[in-house]
Amino acid sequence: MSKYTPMMEQYLRIKADYQDAFLFFRLGDFYEMFFNDAIVAARELEITLTKRDAAKDEPIPMCGVPYHAAANYIKNLIEKGYKVAICEQVEDPKHAKGVVKREVVQLITPGTVMESNMLSESENNYIASLSYFQDGSYVIVYHDLSTGENMLALVSDGWNAVIHELYNQPIKEIVVSSKMPPEHQQQLKEKLNVTLSHQDEISFNGEYRGLFDHLNDERLVKAFSRLLNYVQHTQKRSLDHLQPAEVIELKHFLKLDMYSKRNLELTETILKKGKHGSLLWVLDQTVTSMGSRQLKKWIERPLLSKKQIEERLDVVETFFNSFMERDALREALKSVYDLERLAGRIAFGNVNGRDLIQLKYSLKKIPELQSILNQFNSKQINKIVNEFKFPEQLVDLLETSLVENPPVSIKDGSLIKDGYNETLDKYRDASKNGKQWIKELEQKEKQETNIKSLKVGYNRVFGYYIEVTKANLHLLPEGRYERKQTLTNAERYVTPELKEKEQLILEAEEKSVELEYELFIAIRDHLKAFIPELQGLAEVVSKIDVMQAFATVSENNNYHRPRFVTDKLSIKSGRHPVVERVMKSGQFVPNDVLLDQDSDVLLITGPNMSGKSTYMRQLALTVLMGQIGCFVPCEEADLLIFDQIFTRIGAADDLVSGQSTFMVEMLEANHAIENATSSSLILLDEIGRGTSTYDGMALAQAIVEYIHDHIHAKTLFSTHYHELTSLDQSLDKLKNIHVRAEEHEGSVVFLHQIKEGPADQSYGIHVAKLAELPDRLINRASSILEELESYEKEENAVYSNSTSQLSFFVEESKRQPKQTDKSNESVLAELKKVNLFDMTPLDAM
Ligand code: ADP
Repeated sequence: MSKYTPMMEQYLRIKADYQDAFLFFRLGDFYEMFFNDAIVAARELEITLTKRDAAKDEPIPMCGVPYHAAANYIKNLIEKGYKVAICEQVEDPKHAKGVVKREVVQLITPGTVMESNMLSESENNYIASLSYFQDGSYVIVYHDLSTGENMLALVSDGWNAVIHELYNQPIKEIVVSSKMPPEHQQQLKEKLNVTLSHQDEISFNGEYRGLFDHLNDERLVKAFSRLLNYVQHTQKRSLDHLQPAEVIELKHFLKLDMYSKRNLELTETILKKGKHGSLLWVLDQTVTSMGSRQLKKWIERPLLSKKQIEERLDVVETFFNSFMERDALREALKSVYDLERLAGRIAFGNVNGRDLIQLKYSLKKIPELQSILNQFNSKQINKIVNEFKFPEQLVDLLETSLVENPPVSIKDGSLIKDGYNETLDKYRDASKNGKQWIKELEQKEKQETNIKSLKVGYNRVFGYYIEVTKANLHLLPEGRYERKQTLTNAERYVTPELKEKEQLILEAEEKSVELEYELFIAIRDHLKAFIPELQGLAEVVSKIDVMQAFATVSENNNYHRPRFVTDKLSIKSGRHPVVERVMKSGQFVPNDVLLDQDSDVLLITGPNMSGKSTYMRQLALTVLMGQIGCFVPCEEADLLIFDQIFTRIGAADDLVSGQSTFMVEMLEANHAIENATSSSLILLDEIGRGTSTYDGMALAQAIVEYIHDHIHAKTLFSTHYHELTSLDQSLDKLKNIHVRAEEHEGSVVFLHQIKEGPADQSYGIHVAKLAELPDRLINRASSILEELESYEKEENAVYSNSTSQLSFFVEESKRQPKQTDKSNESVLAELKKVNLFDMTPLDAM
């Protein structure tokens, strides 16, 4: 005999199919969890852990949440990356023989949530699938269940390229084969911080084949099938809103590797991981959440086609130039609801009357939107306007069927308009007539009994009644009234007539509520036919919204339309779009950039904190903004179209990740060198700083030379190795620039101005002074510096006799001071042991 009760046996049988999820097992008004689920859930949700069958030897750990409050608990678990299987009673307990039948009706996972309280409005919620093929290629499917969007990307250049592609996408969950190498699965989890799920079935014959029948590559079909199988398995309900699979040709977009996506803080900042302080934060002047999601997608995928870029810019310029119409456009967009997610919820069957009224008003705005757009008088915009398909029938349906202020619940009536359905009208008449009769009854009874204070009332428990105060009871005729309820000062009665009417009214009301529910469901199902139209509208509206946002920020922040040329990159008075926003206006110092046919590499020198990395990032962001079709932060710009951007900037975050700064530097530099082309942009900030001076300098020089001689990519390279500035002698396309700083009364003043030529001094000590290190310490550092400089002069004197170029690798012995002072020697020995680049500035001092 089993040691468990039949119900626990049922539990265990169901749980066996949902090993990786919390099984919410419906028991009356609760969802219960048992065994390990209960132990973990009690901890994660901070709820009480109890025991079931406490009398037995081995009681079962148990915890539970009330079903009406389950949403918040589920949300909590999903946000922590867990999955929740909802197991309901699927037959009426009253009719059940033995244990009530139960089934999992939905598996909620981080990538498949539909509830609006679990979704961020301004961000997609992707579940991705990743499939590997024998020929070495991978296919990624991006799927957003809330919007129905499906996108596929084929990655042919190996595993790392997959990680770079997936990085920074709003992915909550990835579906892979259970046979994927464990180290790859581990990397996905760690690098992308996602929930991993398995689905091995990669053939699909279900009803949604139409979504991918047009794909003519077997790999794409299999990859899409993996995803669809998983979504069907988890959702177990209508997926009518899914959009046909769309292939993204990665080669049509500017490629950003993982490092650049992070370093450039495109959609979130490195340290705080929030939107505030990112490029997205500055650019997001969208009005709708559809627009906001679209903007994020555009930032992730800048364009390469000049034609497409110019098309966007044309629209942005038109919007830019007509601010009155743009204001009207923004106003109109404000009343457009999230059509895309609404379409998803219609398919899922979880919209209520209020959603549909909002839908109606959104749709009614469309003609106004069209007429505003027509006022711009632009060919491009007219083309977009023509893409609008106004679903007139849908608006008519909503207009005639639903009342203006429906309640939240769809089960309590008051949803459907009079005149929409004959039967409903009849029920309503019956109930109305009955009520009228009751109103008249009061008058009649008053007259007949001569009791002025007699009244007819209603309460939920007793229904309709006639109320007579105790003082008047003697006026009532005998036998006509039946006593129902006694109050302190009054008695309540009914009459057979009143009861009969009451019965009619209640029956009519009950029937009409039932009918209203049925009618509402029918309307909702009918709306499914319009889903593709709604999605089409959403697409157009979101694009318009992003382009008006570009125009709006461009006007607010004084950006200018870039020109795209092929022979040079020239920016006049360029600014950093984010840094300038967080500074007081006028504080940011604009700078020019020039990379032409004679210059591929700019070597930037200048003291710490002078603005080198700001200058580099500002170039990358300007390039990116141009290629997504936005105006750029400068007075004037001639830009090149870049195919990829590589960056090695900043180290703050690497310290946390556990890899040494130097290793990360080398990985990122290597990634750039392996993948860059002559059309790429490379930004290398202080390469080599993570190791000892000579190593670092040697590597830095070798990297610059390699890029200059073999890759010919446009490159910005900042360094504190002043020695590198002489490279302009040997590398003809390398130019020195520096950030100006001035000494003023013994301290340094940063001017943040970029000038031609190398910088002439290092200002480390002055920065230390700014950091308010003690005077004595600063003075000591100054005198050490003087000493060191005097050695250097002696050495240079030795070497200046030679006509060959100065070597970087001065032998250590030659660097040693000529004195043989014992204390100096020991100090030097000590100093030689330390690694300055692993120290804090204070330690170094
Ligand atoms: P570096 O890379 O040379 O150490 P950063 O680029 O990090 O210096 O800049 C240091 C600080 O100087 C920035 O945080 C910013 O506040 C300020 N800064 C940089 N560039 C400018 C500029 N062009 N105008 C005004 N302030 C600037």
